[in-house]
Order: sequence, then structure tokens, then C-alpha cells
Amino acid sequence: SITKTSIRSLLESTLPPPLKGLLKIAAQQAEARGWQLYLVGGAVRDLLLAQSQVHFREFDLVVDSGGTSDLQGAGGELARSIAEDFPEAQLQIYGEFQTAALIWHDESHLGPFSMDIATARSEFYPYPAANPEISVSSIRQDLYRRDFSINALAVRLTGHQNSPQQRGELLDFFGGVEDLEQKLIRVLHPNSFIEDPTRIFRAIRFASRLGFSLDEQTKIYLQTAIASGIYQQTEGNHHKAPALQSRLRNELKYIVQEVHWLRALALIQDLGAWCCIHPDLAMPPSSLRAIKMAARWLEALNPEPGDRRWPIILEVLLLQLPESARLKVAQKLQLPEGSQMRLGQFQALVQRCSDQLQGHPSPSRVVKTLRPYSPELIILGAVCVSVSVRAILWRYLQIWQHVQPMINGATLIEMGYRPGKKFRAMLDFILDATLDGQVSDPASAQQMVRQRFD
Ligand code: ATP
Repeated sequence: SITKTSIRSLLESTLPPPLKGLLKIAAQQAEARGWQLYLVGGAVRDLLLAQSQVHFREFDLVVDSGGTSDLQGAGGELARSIAEDFPEAQLQIYGEFQTAALIWHDESHLGPFSMDIATARSEFYPYPAANPEISVSSIRQDLYRRDFSINALAVRLTGHQNSPQQRGELLDFFGGVEDLEQKLIRVLHPNSFIEDPTRIFRAIRFASRLGFSLDEQTKIYLQTAIASGIYQQTEGNHHKAPALQSRLRNELKYIVQEVHWLRALALIQDLGAWCCIHPDLAMPPSSLRAIKMAARWLEALNPEPGDRRWPIILEVLLLQLPESARLKVAQKLQLPEGSQMRLGQFQALVQRCSDQLQGHPSPSRVVKTLRPYSPELIILGAVCVSVSVRAILWRYLQIWQHVQPMINGATLIEMGYRPGKKFRAMLDFILDATLDGQVSDPASAQQMVRQRFD
């Protein structure tokens, strides 16, 4: 059980040696200044949950100097001194937030990896921060500002001359360990979701990723926050709205990038949280079917859709809204330009499909109809057209869009034609004939060109 496991031995057994070395150097640099240094957030959670080796991509550290560092903050000073031992790391210092980051890129031996160092906002006290009785209040405050108990755990990395046993001590002020054991997502105070609505989606993301439930009281806070009008908070007239919208967009993106993303979308629906994005938004069974279909089509098109999936999935969800609302939401959420373009072109594509692709259109006609549109937009269209048109779109994406004319421009030149305006028409003519199965080999294609254009 987690309570019986010493976090110290977990750090020892779970962290790869280079990361252990990094934490050791960071702790030594902090100790040399009489500061306290803590590992906080996701890394502590994942360490405690770890069955075996975890692949860490990020450490969040909090340094507490007891107010003794300069204006730029202890985080900046500490990061700079750590960077001296890691010349390959990129150092970023944000003086105004008193935070800093060290970033190792793909090619370095730690990379890709980043380590954020925040400065605990502590009062100045007339004792060195290394005096643990006093310093604990500022790390506690720092952790209290966090989202969930399981993300508000800290490990003290520094020791103190008189009490070296504190090194590796787990700080659990809010029952995080118990919640990890009970598999619960719990906020730290009733106003948490109202204070920061992105936490609604973070709660859902962690619950579905870890297979956890929302603590009952937390669920009530969440639903109260939604009922109190999160959507209005995100509306344009509030000065914080654009930043909030872009953070909401990021959380939705992270959700769709999760392995268990469909589970997460269902949880958003169960909790009634879609209305934070738009009052009329929901995920009825028809939307869920459309989303699953779009995901399958995307995967068929590109087995590693990577970052391409999340915008399309959100676009499919928005299709249930009237056109003007779709565009408005896409703009407010600051969806990528491609999304906004697709949602703008969507109606025209659907119209064109129903005008041009009824019955049994020839492949060449299908290609002419669909060529102006991107595969992603066609997937979006596919969720809204009739079954027969959908089958045509599928064949276009799988086969017809890739068909090359039986002979190319080089052959036309060999045949004695000179490159010019007519070339385009000739190649289109051959492509149509190839698509429609009217030529089966290059020789007959050449013959057809001569018959038609000579
Ligand atoms: P992941 O494994 O997805 O990176 P993480 O826990 O590291 O999970 P981050 O989004 O990187 O998540 O955030 C790091 C830490 O910062 C969290 O563990 C949490 O303590 C805190 N945090 C992040 N976002 C919020 C928020 N909106 N409100 C409060 N605390 C937050």
C-alpha cells in the first residue's frame, strides 16, 4: 500500500540515474543557500502510483527561500546555478512570475525533459527558510492553490544540518495519499471550480486517465459551479475570458490526446459539462457515433494521427450547433486556423456532395467534386451525409484521390506535344479515363490522347 511505501526508496528505485542526479544537484544547490526545495505535482503523484518504471517528462519544483532571495526570485537563481552543471539545457527565466525552467531537447541525454522551478510566495521571516517549522507554511500555501489532493503532494528534497532525515519526506497536507489509495479526485476547497473552471476538465482528464472517480462532494461542487454559469464567465465581455478560453481549449486538447479519451468525453457528458463550452452543446448518442466514426476514418487515413485528431473531434462535436454558433465557439476557443476554415467551408461541401454525388457518379466526377477540399474536411462532411454518399467519400479518400494519370507530362513531351495550356486539359483527360477504367495501359492512353487532341 502507498502509505507503507517510503517515498525515499521509491525515488531511489523508480527514477532513472540521470534524473536522480539532477534532483541531487538541485537539492545541493538549494541547501548551500539555506533554502528548501520540493518536488511537487504530477511527478509525485505518478511516483506513488508507479508499479514499475515511470517515464517522466517533467518535474515541477518549488523553492522556498524564506524571502531571502532577490527580486528575480529564488527559482531563477537556483535554475541558473543548476544550469552550470547542464550546459546542454536551455534556461528560461520569467522574472515577473519568479519562475524558471530548464529544458532538455530531444537530442540531449535527458531529453525531451523539462524542469520547472517556482518560487514559493513566502513572507520574509527573520530565520533562514531551512528552519522547517517556519518554512512549512509557505509550501503548504503553495500546495493549497493546486487543483486536486492527488496533485498537491510534495517531497522535500533538501535536508537540514540538524535534521537530515527530512530529506525525502512526503508532505501530504490534504489527504492526497488516501485519495490515491481510494482512487478519488478531490478538490481542496468548495470554490475551486468557480475559481478556475478549467479544473472541471482537468478533473475529468485525471479521472479517465487514472481510472479514478470524482469524490462525491467534489462532484457536487463541480455541478454547482456549472449551474452557477461557467459559460457566462467564459463569455467575451469578461476581461479574463480570452485567457480562460485558451486554457479551456488546451484542456480539451489534452483530453482528446489521452489514451482513454472516449471515456473522458462520456464523463463530460455525464457531468453535464459540455455547456461550459456553449449552452446548447451536449454529446447525444448521434454525436458520439459521429465522433467515433471520424476517429476511425482519421486513423485509416493516417495510422498515427498524432496532433491531428483533437481539432477534428471538437469540430465534429460543434456540428450539432447552428452554423453561426459553431464559428463563434471555434473563434472564442481559439481553435487552430484549419478548424475555423473547415467549419466555414463545411456547409458548402455538404451542399456540393448532395448536388453532385447522388446516384452512381463516376469516379472522375467524384474526384472533380472533392478535389478542392482537404481530406479532413471530407471526413467532417462524411459524418453528415447519406450512407450512400458516405461510401463514395470513403472510396475517394482510400483510393481515388491517390490515382495518377496513366501517362504523365514527360510522356506527352516524348509524344511530341509542347508544354503549355493544353497540357493541363490533356492530363485531366487521361486522369478521368484512368479513374473511370477507360484505359488499361500507357499505350492505349497515348492513343486516346491523339484521338482527342490531334
Ligand atoms: P500531466 O501528467 O498531465 O503533465 P501534471 O499533474 O503534471 O499532469 P500539469 O498540467 O503539468 O499536470 O500541472 C502541473 C501541476 O500544477 C499539477 O500537478 C497541479 O498541481 C498544478 N496545476 C496545474 N493546473 C492547475 C490548475 N488549473 N489549478 C490548480 N493547480 C494546477
